[in-house]
Amino acid sequence: MTAQRPMVEVKSARKAYGELQVLKGIDLSVARGQIVAIIGPSGSGKSTLLRSINHLETLNGGEVWLDGVQVNQSLRGQAFERHINAVRQQMGMVFQHFNLFPHLTVIENVTMGPIILKGMAKAAARELAVELLSKVGLAEKVDAYPSRLSGGQKQRVAIARALAMQPKVMLFDEATSALDPELVDEVNAVMKQLAAEHMTMLIVTHEMRFAGEVADRVLFMDGGVVVEQGAPAEIFREPKQDRTRAFLKKYL
Ligand code: ADP
Ligand code: MG
Repeated sequence: MTAQRPMVEVKSARKAYGELQVLKGIDLSVARGQIVAIIGPSGSGKSTLLRSINHLETLNGGEVWLDGVQVNQSLRGQAFERHINAVRQQMGMVFQHFNLFPHLTVIENVTMGPIILKGMAKAAARELAVELLSKVGLAEKVDAYPSRLSGGQKQRVAIARALAMQPKVMLFDEATSALDPELVDEVNAVMKQLAAEHMTMLIVTHEMRFAGEVADRVLFMDGGVVVEQGAPAEIFREPKQDRTRAFLKKYL
């Protein structure tokens, strides 16, 4: 049973901001180790979907599950706070903007979560951080401050920081959109490496070629619904829906 349980499951997710329906019944299932790329026009609800998965947004209807545990369950007050903090620790999120703490060094940025949220011993957190920073190619930057780093380096620190919590899933929301073009590949390379290690990932991206290379499945959203999803080759070469074709035409 455990092997078949989805890592992330979204059921009939609905979200509105006032009168504006942003998610109109989204269903999504991501298996352990699966990589799903989410594409779609600006305003289609991609960020809202990712933010709803780790409960940065509260759904108006539907369910989100992480590895068999309901994320948006009906607990109240402190019980919910405890629950959601525990669940959030199991999801790493990387945003377009890096949100590193400017007054902390690279390694302090990475060790802070494990030390404060997980109670990890400082030496162990440091060891883990050095390992992760080496993995993202920043071993020599451990004691640098973020202001000394390029955008691509900052984003790689942000990824290492998320990984330091040893999450069950990584959520990337346009992680390379704010980067100069020559810095995009170094960040994409880290995501590809995680893919090779079977990290479960949801990746919102505007880079169709990267999506095709990294994802097991591509999901096209428009107007708050999943219009179409399938293997990258299907979606990119033989999209079935007119809306998907019209969208892809702008990128290919
Ligand atoms: P995407 O990431 O696909 O560009 P978003 O999920 O950011 O789309 O936004 C979907 C829609 O919801 C857009 O019309 C956006 O303006 C609206 N929206 C997003 N966040 C808010 C908010 N906090 N308040 C009001 N409207 C919002
Ligand atoms: Mg967005």
